Amino acid sequence: MTFIKWVVVIIAIIVFGGCSVNKQIVAQGVNEAPNVDNYENGRFHNHQQVEPNSFKKTLGILGRYITEKRTNITPKKPIAIKSVTAKMLNSLANNTVHVIKLGHSSVLLKVHGEYWLLDPVFSERASPFSFVGPKRFSKLPISISELPPIDKVLISHNHYDHLDKSAIKKLSAKTKQFYVPLGVDSDLVKWGVNENKISTFNWWQELQTEHALVAFTPTQHFSGRGLSDANNTLWGSWVIKTSQQSVYFSGDSGYFAGFKEIGNKYGPFDLTLIETGAYDKDWADIHMTPEQSVQAHIDLQGKTLVPIHNGTFDLAFHAWVDPFERVTAASNINNVTLSTPEFGQIFTPTDAAITHKWWKK
Ligand SMILES: [Zn+2]
Ligand SMILES: [Zn+2]
Repeated sequence: MTFIKWVVVIIAIIVFGGCSVNKQIVAQGVNEAPNVDNYENGRFHNHQQVEPNSFKKTLGILGRYITEKRTNITPKKPIAIKSVTAKMLNSLANNTVHVIKLGHSSVLLKVHGEYWLLDPVFSERASPFSFVGPKRFSKLPISISELPPIDKVLISHNHYDHLDKSAIKKLSAKTKQFYVPLGVDSDLVKWGVNENKISTFNWWQELQTEHALVAFTPTQHFSGRGLSDANNTLWGSWVIKTSQQSVYFSGDSGYFAGFKEIGNKYGPFDLTLIETGAYDKDWADIHMTPEQSVQAHIDLQGKTLVPIHNGTFDLAFHAWVDPFERVTAASNINNVTLSTPEFGQIFTPTDAAITHKWWKK
């Protein structure tokens, strides 16, 4: 194994395996301990305990990276994406919601004329380093400089494949507001975002904006960007409801009872954007299999499911097309309306499902 491969493996485990080494570290992300029932001794926690990371488990995952033969983990050819321009965006009608998948879990919404970015990641790699770590399969449909001024950036949690420091720095000046989970604000301020622009959310906290109700809802996951900040900041999902349409954005989550709760409180949803990718038997509590993603969509009372968290970075052991194939099969079995837009394809939550299997090209 080359030196670079070792570095990649170690980073992958730190970043995506959620390695927690020092359990004594106090919260770095939250200045004042929030008085909430999901926060204790400087760390946030899930309602139901997930399998803790142990040194043994981390070593086991490392062993698998070294010994397991992985096939088709990246596309043989670059993925064809649809380019998007500011002119195209500005010509979209202002009386509805438009949705564009930019890559992985990064989504651009046009909400009644306002531009909203969900988990914007524009860097070449989902990694703390620019030279090593999971590299994107294809270009983005649009660059940050080409994007029109952004009204809102919403972040689900601070993992590198959802919170991109370089993107935030570039977006800082052209974005009016940032909505983030409790604790994530301190990194944004450190990176130059004016704190007056940032609103922090605990689970079930709502905000009525001009065009939509926004609610931050639970997921079963974790947070951390280094060795000593495990669960110092909160993680979750977003509900966006306009007078006509409703969208759910999952962030990252294992399958849990919370989806039913969210569905009962805020459903039905015209569109659910649900993580379908980067699953594995070694982290089954904190990421869903495609079959569980379909069940989550049903629990949420979703009408159309668009799978996200796929087709962009290699973050697990499965083939890159596996999420698409399995979510298609599971949707068929369960009579779920699955829509699989290409990156850069513009659609609305109530459009007919896009059934083009672009990953088969
Ligand atoms: Zn995550
Ligand atoms: Zn993720």
